[in-house]
Parts: sequence; C-alpha cells; structure tokens
Amino acid sequence: MDATQVEDDLVEVLFTEKQIHDRLEELAQEITADYEGRDLLIVGILRGAAMVMVDLARALPRHLEMDWMAISSYGSGTKSSGVVRILKDLDTDISGRHVLIVDEIIDTGLTLSWLVNNLGTRNAASVEVCTLLRKPDALTMPVDPRYVGWDIPNEFVVGYGLDYRQQYRNLRDIATLAPHVYT
Ligand code: IMP
Ligand code: MG
Repeated sequence: MDATQVEDDLVEVLFTEKQIHDRLEELAQEITADYEGRDLLIVGILRGAAMVMVDLARALPRHLEMDWMAISSYGSGTKSSGVVRILKDLDTDISGRHVLIVDEIIDTGLTLSWLVNNLGTRNAASVEVCTLLRKPDALTMPVDPRYVGWDIPNEFVVGYGLDYRQQYRNLRDIATLAPHVYT
C-alpha cells in the first residue's frame, strides 16, 4: 500500500520506501564490518520488525541465521501497557552465539531493555540491538542500540511494519498518523 492510497489518514511521510532501503544498505555495511569473522544470528521481533528484518537480512552480504521472537508490551492503543511478556520464544540456543536483535522502533525502551536483559541471561557471546527508528524524547528505560536508522520526534508513526491497531503495517513508507484516526 502506498501513502497516496491512505493519504487522508496521514499527516506526513517521514521516510519513503527508497530512503528506508538505502539506510538499511548502510547499516548492513556497518554490521558486516563489525561482525567480520564471527557467526551472526539476527533475531527479529514480531510483528513490527518483520519488514526491517527481511530487508536487512537480504542486504547483508554474508552468511547468517534468522530467528524470531514475539513480545507483547502494548495494548491495542498508542501507549505501552508497561508489562512485557514473551509470546513466542527463540527456537535457537544462543549460548556462545553473537546475537543481533532487529527491531523497528525504540519508544520508551521498555521492551528492548527487558529483552536485552532476558537474552543476557542465556550465555550469548554478545547481544546487540539494531533499530530502524528511535524516539529519544520518549526513552525512559536504558537501551543502547549499536545501530540506529534514524532518530525521530515523539510522534506516533505507522508503516513499514509499524501498526496502529494492527493496520498500516503494509504501508511501504513510514508516516505520521493523523490524530483524527486515533482520537
Ligand atoms: P517501547 O517498549 O516503548 O520501546 O515500545 C516498543 C514497541 O512499541 C515497538 O516495537 C512498537 O511495536 C510499539 N511502538 C512504539 N512507538 C510506536 C509508534 O510510533 N508506532 C507504532 N508502534 C509503536
Ligand atoms: Mg516492535
């Protein structure tokens, strides 16, 4: 779905599909250099990181393994419920592995700070975070992602995996959602 097809629901396109893919190529080069000579397991956080995960994985010119987790920290609205639960755990034993968590957005940091701690108890060789977006003004929990696509203002965004009530994930671009949609 293109932004023009839901333009009444959006305020502004922040990043086009092309800009997103170009930025992922850059991150992929950094990651490739940093992990040279080491095995790599990338872990996508369902459902929001699905698009970032598959595009980043294909941009990485090296062997890697992919696994997925599903974590719930949000209700159905635009604010975190504050409670983190594992809905689907890894299938992979990560002990001794270099793990790169791939997420689409860090908002309060609640989900990822919890997840980094959780994976940290499983004897991985390393656990790092790659996020496409980060809202620095919303951060309340300590998360220090090694790779960040862009910092954005503290506004609710949709598209490229990011949802509002499970919709807009299939929007190709990332855009701010018009308040009339959620008020
Ligand atoms: P955090 O735990 O507050 O950092 O929130 C992480 C999760 O909240 C993300 O992985 C998203 O699923 C969701 N989220 C946070 N901000 C947004 C947004 O602007 N649009 C859509 N989902 C968001
Ligand atoms: Mg998410």
